[in-house]
Amino acid sequence: MPNKFDMGWQEEANCKNLNMDIFYDTIGRGQGFSSEAIDACSTCPVIDQCREYALNHELYGYWGGLTPIERKRIRKERGILLEVPESEFNKSMMGKMWGKPRQLKPRPECGTVAAYQSHRRYGEVACEPCALAIRIKNKETKRRQRMKELNG
Ligand code: SF4
Ligand SMILES: [Zn+2]
Repeated sequence: MPNKFDMGWQEEANCKNLNMDIFYDTIGRGQGFSSEAIDACSTCPVIDQCREYALNHELYGYWGGLTPIERKRIRKERGILLEVPESEFNKSMMGKMWGKPRQLKPRPECGTVAAYQSHRRYGEVACEPCALAIRIKNKETKRRQRMKELNG
């Protein structure tokens, strides 16, 4: 579906003149998309570009013939780190999906436990520095437990 980011391929998109709402599922958790949206994507000349863009940048909506859950799975398989655009739309969707107003917070810096947890929340594979941070933390936790057992 067209959005505010200027991307050339969208000029040829089947959804160029369609109502954007049909690409967003307002009822459930990213499963029930309209047949109109599914049809548009299935014959779209720029489906490949759209899919690649959405895999990297879109958390919500039906893009390139993929639901959010399908994209999440592919991101995991391919180790893609999602970079969500800071759009008003995404901010408002955050609120809708979890039923309360929520701002998109800036992501914590990689190489920290917080950033590791953030990768998990976004359904991403953790990057090297974050994986290392969590390993160190887990080791430290275990070490403390062992100390406690020895002393107690
Ligand atoms: S694949 Fe679907 S969402 Fe993507 S540009 Fe084409 S019609 Fe729009
Ligand atoms: Zn990271």
